[in-house]
Amino acid sequence: MSLSNKVVIVTGASSGIGAAIAQVLAREGATLALVGRNVANLEATKKNLKGTQAEIVVADVTKDADAIVQQTLAKFGRIDVLVNNAGILGKGGLIDLDIEEFDAVLNTNLRGVILLTKAVLPHLLKTKGAVVNVSSCAGIRPFAGALSYGVSKAALDQFTKIVALETASQGVRVNSVNPGFVVTNIHRNIGIVDEEYNGVLQRAINSHPMGRVGDVTEVAEAVAFLASSKASFTTGALLPIDGGKNNLTPR
Ligand code: NDP
Repeated sequence: MSLSNKVVIVTGASSGIGAAIAQVLAREGATLALVGRNVANLEATKKNLKGTQAEIVVADVTKDADAIVQQTLAKFGRIDVLVNNAGILGKGGLIDLDIEEFDAVLNTNLRGVILLTKAVLPHLLKTKGAVVNVSSCAGIRPFAGALSYGVSKAALDQFTKIVALETASQGVRVNSVNPGFVVTNIHRNIGIVDEEYNGVLQRAINSHPMGRVGDVTEVAEAVAFLASSKASFTTGALLPIDGGKNNLTPR
């Protein structure tokens, strides 16, 4: 198992891609700190894990970075990997931008990641650990009508590359996965209702060169690779998990 004896913090482990990341990392032998705000969902994630130690950390990534680190250290004594997966979508382009929603998206997808990574880094320097950020193909290429989200993920990608440079000589690796469309609650959480959702999904299927959307496990397997020593010479990389979508002309 590629992550035996490694202590991994996974944010947003209560749903979707984060819950799948927890499952795959547990299969690879990792000990997990499962971070999110919804206790019932975190417990459901934990219940699905087999043969691994897992600690539920009820926390908001926008304000609880130090508490996340302290609870993980109190329980497991070390931190080897941080997976910054928690994230939210925003609606609309510039003309109809809701600046409060913009602030919430940037707070969660960027500022929260920066705060938690800063709090975890001293511990990763001790363990020669790794960070894996869950970005998006919307970080790599622009999509009209998803301004807050695209700006947050593009900035996150630059953060990944800068921190990778800053820590490479000290043995810490920092990478991201950049998924295309994956069916989770994230789209419905911004109020996309059933009738609308089918259209959104069909357009997503058509816009991926492979002719389908992604699965949570396909993202989780890539996260496990980047978190492990199998990726020991990889840092500052943005890995698209998007059926070829990053290669298309923006539309
Ligand atoms: P979900 O909505 O299913 O899950 C989002 C997770 O983020 C939840 O576990 C939620 O936990 C957590 N979260 C959100 N805000 C906070 C917060 N302030 N503090 C702590 N946890 C928080 O979405 P996905 O699984 O789809 O998204 C996971 C990541 O994947 C995101 O970063 C997203 O941008 C990225 N992504 C998703 C794509 C997709 O098509 N699904 C495509 C590309 C990237 P809780 O509610 O318990 O707080």
